[in-house]
Amino acid sequence: MKDNIHSDKVVLSIDWDNRFDYMQQHSGQHLLSAVFYKLYNGETIGFYIGKGYVYIDVNLPSINNAEIIKVEEFANRIVFSNFQMRSYIVEKADINKLPIIENNISNSKIRIVEIDGIDFSPCCGTHLRATGEIGLIKIQKVQKHKDNIRVEFVCGNRALMDYRWKSNCIKNISNLLSSKDKDVENKIVKLYEEKKALERENKALKEEINK
Ligand SMILES: [Zn+2]
Repeated sequence: MKDNIHSDKVVLSIDWDNRFDYMQQHSGQHLLSAVFYKLYNGETIGFYIGKGYVYIDVNLPSINNAEIIKVEEFANRIVFSNFQMRSYIVEKADINKLPIIENNISNSKIRIVEIDGIDFSPCCGTHLRATGEIGLIKIQKVQKHKDNIRVEFVCGNRALMDYRWKSNCIKNISNLLSSKDKDVENKIVKLYEEKKALERENKALKEEINK
């Protein structure tokens, strides 16, 4: 096998589950970035796709919950509409004919990834054939990061896995509390307040005993 390094023939294989997962997260990132720009003029200035989490940094000083829901709903509407995604090469001289947000590319030929007239991004990554393949997009957390917002999200199969464990978690808590799943939040708040009151009472009693 050692001799093979001198051969001009190699055998490659793709870990498809892993590849498809990254295609879902990355295509979802293109779409989510496009929606932030369309709705609030927020430009994506960085992104990270890892095994544990995925985020984009958007140059907005802040965003409220209603706006986050609007982004999520708009992005998922584009997913459910199953728009075509395609990639092609454009000559540098022709790049200004496309509505590209950031254009500081020095290559003579530029690969564009287009979501059916909705978004045009220069990118050399791996993408899906249509937005429907992204599956559900769920924003999990938004926090301030320097002067921007960092938006953590999951797409497709990761969204299913996230839903599965959260659903399981709520089911276990509701069994433990003998409550319906819709009531567990209120019940936990009530239990927490009772615990605090008991701690205060306990402290007061201890102080009285030790007088
Ligand atoms: Zn890309």
